[in-house]
Amino acid sequence: MDRVYNFSAGPSMLPVEVLEQAQKDMLCYGKSGMSVMEMSHRSKDFEEIIETAEADLRELMNIPDNYKVLFLQGGGSTQFAMIPLNLFRNSKKCDLVNTGQWSKKAMSEAKRYGTVNVVASSEDKTFTYIPKLDPKDFDPEADYFYITLNNTIYGTKWNKLPETGNVPLVADASSNILSEEIDVSKFGLIFAGAQKNIGPAGVTIVIIREDLIGHALDFTPTMLNYETHSKENSLYNTPPTYSIYVAGLTFKWLKAMGGVKAMEKINREKAKILYDFLDNSKLFKGTVVPEDRSLMNVPFVLPSEELNEKFIALAKSKGFVNLKGHRTVGGMRASIYNAMPVEGVKKLVELMAQFEKDNL
Ligand SMILES: *Cc1c(COP(=O)(O)O)cnc(C)c1O
Repeated sequence: MDRVYNFSAGPSMLPVEVLEQAQKDMLCYGKSGMSVMEMSHRSKDFEEIIETAEADLRELMNIPDNYKVLFLQGGGSTQFAMIPLNLFRNSKKCDLVNTGQWSKKAMSEAKRYGTVNVVASSEDKTFTYIPKLDPKDFDPEADYFYITLNNTIYGTKWNKLPETGNVPLVADASSNILSEEIDVSKFGLIFAGAQKNIGPAGVTIVIIREDLIGHALDFTPTMLNYETHSKENSLYNTPPTYSIYVAGLTFKWLKAMGGVKAMEKINREKAKILYDFLDNSKLFKGTVVPEDRSLMNVPFVLPSEELNEKFIALAKSKGFVNLKGHRTVGGMRASIYNAMPVEGVKKLVELMAQFEKDNL
């Protein structure tokens, strides 16, 4: 069977070159005589895999030396608890902007350990925009300021970061890490689950400024303390070795593509093809205000539930899969992460244009 164009929000497409390399290495990695899956995490071979992955990520994201890179488990969702457990050190208060379900989940975990001040929310319009902020609403005593950098479900992203002064900015970049250039030095902590833009599910990357490590609340479980993993270079216990290895292959692939800047250019081109079509269509409609549109997740709707279903079924039959929107938005959502080629988006738009002709 041929490979399909997979528009899944996550886990999502991986570059074919990465899968092929993993296939080549499957039975025997290098001269090790075994698969990476069968390898001790304390072996020389694995040490090199994790160290190279970290070095490549540092190069790709231009991560300053005073930041640690951690390879953790538990998905993005475990960070919703680790962040307050480790960063609530003084006032035990944080500022947060509510831009969708992932922000809400972060909020409910943080509330277990301290006070959450919701600076702004876009819930009034089903999270179809990024709210404007008034710095007067910021709490200067907050231990951190939390945002979801790209909202996977609703298709919005932050284009201008909040100016939080000395309050560390914390960002969930699960669905846009490595998709465009970001200035790591503007953040106290950035985290991302791997399964959207990095590799297979199982590893979560945390990029954290060193001064934020070592102040966890007393009752923080050892495994949820950043200090544990920082001290042991992510080898305190067995890390998700195979996911780290594939993530490393993706970093190599991205470097060969020209790095994040080159990738961003391609991502902007892909998003433009889709948004331009939506803006000019008489049938399809984007759901997000133009200035806050995501480059990675593009939700759109047709005028009726019946047409939505008809389009999703037609697309599936032609090899464009996982286009159904999130249940809270309805319609369709095309997730066009780094591994989605320009051609996939062009062909999807051709199909949409044909559907419009046939159904108008
Ligand atoms: C997918 C996603 C998560 C949750 O990730 P898990 O690894 O499933 O816990 C969190 N935040 C954002 C923005 C996401 O897209």
